[in-house]
Amino acid sequence: MLIDLEADELAEREIAGIALGVVYGQKYGDAEANAAKTHCWRGHPYTPENTILSKTRFRAGEARSCRTCAAARKREWRRRNPELARAQRHLTYLGEKARRKGGGS
Ligand SMILES: [Zn+2]
Repeated sequence: MLIDLEADELAEREIAGIALGVVYGQKYGDAEANAAKTHCWRGHPYTPENTILSKTRFRAGEARSCRTCAAARKREWRRRNPELARAQRHLTYLGEKARRKGGGS
């Protein structure tokens, strides 16, 4: 019984490791392979409207991420951390107020 449990746990870890490899492959994998991708791993299209370009710390060039997925992650984070989300909104509000006060266009 104990052995079965251990075997199960090992199998689970192995599967988790493979899953992680897939995720990292998607994120920091070969730049050309990434550039050739037309959809994110969830199947949203990499159209200009749905793509966020950001500089990566890991390699030269730009990384693309899916706006739909980013928005979903943000929504999920807000749902899980309502207090932090409120605090962040307040900070954003204060920042905008300070920018407006500082003049500019
Ligand atoms: Zn997506």
